[in-house]
Amino acid sequence: MAKFDSILGTVGGTPLVRINNVAPKHVTLYAKVEAFNPLGSVKDRLALGVIEAAERSGELKPGQTVIEATSGNTGIGLAMVCAQKGYPLVVVMADSFSVERRKLMRFLGAKVVLTPAALRATGMINKCLELAKTHGWFLTRQFENEANADMHSRTTAPELLADLAGERFDYWVTGYGTGGTLKGVARVLRRERPDTKIVVCEPADAPLIQSGEAQQRQPDGTPAAGHPAWKPHPMQGWTPDFIPKLTGEAVDSHLIDRLISIPGPEALKASRDLAAKEGVFVGITAGATFAGALKVAETAEPGSTIVCMMPDTGERYLSTPLFADTPAEMTAEEIAIFRSTPLYADVELPQPA
Ligand code: PMP
Repeated sequence: MAKFDSILGTVGGTPLVRINNVAPKHVTLYAKVEAFNPLGSVKDRLALGVIEAAERSGELKPGQTVIEATSGNTGIGLAMVCAQKGYPLVVVMADSFSVERRKLMRFLGAKVVLTPAALRATGMINKCLELAKTHGWFLTRQFENEANADMHSRTTAPELLADLAGERFDYWVTGYGTGGTLKGVARVLRRERPDTKIVVCEPADAPLIQSGEAQQRQPDGTPAAGHPAWKPHPMQGWTPDFIPKLTGEAVDSHLIDRLISIPGPEALKASRDLAAKEGVFVGITAGATFAGALKVAETAEPGSTIVCMMPDTGERYLSTPLFADTPAEMTAEEIAIFRSTPLYADVELPQPA
């Protein structure tokens, strides 16, 4: 399909890409590259799913302001959907998330309200709830909204099933931010591919589910307090400081077969390896999920097929630790290349980075 009524028609339908150079040879490793969505992340699906569900239910009125608390990708997806459909959008975001994210949302016409990082995800959500209540704005409630998981059951899961029809599908590896991807895909896999093992990765610094400690909730499912097992981690978009309702439901329905901890440096290295050795340019959580897939491969029987989610593009992380070792100036090696031919021999070059 190459012709669409609007940009919204291009959400989903992302490719499953075989990883060759950085995958062990005894398994087949595929990545579902969500960077192919129009605004570069898996959250474009949720944005379209929750807005269209609210339009259908009548909860969202024409021209009503939409508001959400987000680590960025949801806000960027919502900004695209709201721009196309004509809803004003306010995004509440902790000031620790990358500057690229803020600028992208503002470029797409949204207002971005920043909360101090010290107040954590729960602080950002509380501010969002207060604003929505005070102004009568439509809150998308990505962490609790069943339309989030539904969109993945209706799009992400069938895409995986179609692409792997008639093939082995031994493991599906993911992380969680809201748990929309996890709950929505896993429940369909359980039904349609009951032999597929569902593997969930958490940051080593925030093993919330692995800690076994229950999340305290308000009656509406929002967190009553931050989770004690949470510490800051570099996987922006994964594991907020609480177990979201949608994630908790996936745990309670026994949709998870294995939990894996991913140290931050491993996630960053995996993302860099995917770019430099495979040409797959994806973000930190994609690297983290891939690191999880490599751990699965260590004990997977030869011939297994492992599928991992790659939630967003690497371009969203230029100002983050992912690019910390990537210089902007020429290195000594690059200067040597410049000097290896006579043209512009007298040009003064800056000191190597
Ligand atoms: N990775 C990134 C970069 C994200 O922004 C998100 C969503 N916050 C996720 C992974 C997790 O997706 P989900 O909300 O469906 O669990």
